[in-house]
Amino acid sequence: MDEETRLIRAGLHAEELARTVGPPIQKGSTVLLPNAAALYDDDAFVTYGRKGLASHTALTHALAQMEGAAGACLYPSGLAALTGAMLAVLEAGDEVLVADCIYNPTRRFCDKVLARYGVAVRYFDPEQSPEALVGEASDKVRLIVLESPGSLTLEMQDLARIAELARQRGILTMADNTWGAGYLFKPLEHGIDISVQALTKYVGGHSDVFMGSACARDERLFRRLDDGIMHLGWAVSPEDAYQMLRGLRTLPTRLERQGASALKVAAWLQAQDEVAEVLFPALPGARHHHLWKRDWRGACGLFSVVLKPASAHAVDALLDALSLFGLGFSWGGFESLAISCDPQLNKRRLRKDYGGPLVRFHIGLEHPDDLIADLRIGLDAYRIAARAP
Ligand SMILES: *Cc1c(COP(=O)(O)O)cnc(C)c1O
Repeated sequence: MDEETRLIRAGLHAEELARTVGPPIQKGSTVLLPNAAALYDDDAFVTYGRKGLASHTALTHALAQMEGAAGACLYPSGLAALTGAMLAVLEAGDEVLVADCIYNPTRRFCDKVLARYGVAVRYFDPEQSPEALVGEASDKVRLIVLESPGSLTLEMQDLARIAELARQRGILTMADNTWGAGYLFKPLEHGIDISVQALTKYVGGHSDVFMGSACARDERLFRRLDDGIMHLGWAVSPEDAYQMLRGLRTLPTRLERQGASALKVAAWLQAQDEVAEVLFPALPGARHHHLWKRDWRGACGLFSVVLKPASAHAVDALLDALSLFGLGFSWGGFESLAISCDPQLNKRRLRKDYGGPLVRFHIGLEHPDDLIADLRIGLDAYRIAARAP
């Protein structure tokens, strides 16, 4: 053969792979098949790289096991998992009920995209009773979208009860379980049909990679989600899948530490003069603590605080005085973060008066005493700015 041809063929027969602790990061669009019959045998062989290779398979198996699912689907972001799962099960003429505390970009998708495709969207108060929610649902309702706790205001919904009532009416339920990370709370075990999470947050755990997952316990529903990905043409990179699997190894350890630190910091915040209320269902005495205690095995590091009334300027002064808390959206990484919430709350359908401005904190893996010292400086700045004319 000529050298051109030899270069094309060179190195193709890699030795048998050494056995590392993690899966190989297989890269490939083309998948070579063993014989002609295998070309069209989709059931027996992966015939194209978009379906996922070694690291994808390892990750989906691990996620399905954690969530108690028939299978797990991977999406290029958490938002893509939410939108992809909705597109997979909804059709024109359907109605979808969405908890008003839903992640804001999900709301944007519902309003800007679902509405254009003939799906009606109705938002409901996340504190509404399951009986009223399902009882008042029209016959067109196909899906109820939940997020418990809501990732800004931390309201909890009784997912088990909603799932039970919805099932009796043939309505599907889907939960954005990013707060529970598939570990602290397992929606499928409580009867929810589709469990979605932004792996970007706690599973990744290092604020450096995007991915989302959707899991279903029912095999047919899982196939439907999986077909949805094929129809939309989405794929995630093998390196990212590997990184998510690596994050999964330390997920329980990180969550245990971050949840404990968050409880310590939240209890301290609750005792401060500048704080009206801590919104953190894991905190004894907080709103919805009973539901959290009934269904959850632990807490993560994300909660919000209602401050005593002062101007938006004072909230900015608090945030700007912090040095250990980064100012940034997202959460679930090893680092502490803070944001002001009110501009996002103003986009809700059903506005609520919390009695003061809201700030959301994500507690990372720093020592909680250092975080408390930083927050004291922030609250001092808040108090001074609140008094300023
Ligand atoms: C971040 C987040 C998402 C979206 O995840 P991305 O990977 O950033 O698209 C969805 N739901 C919740 C609750 C989130 O916090």
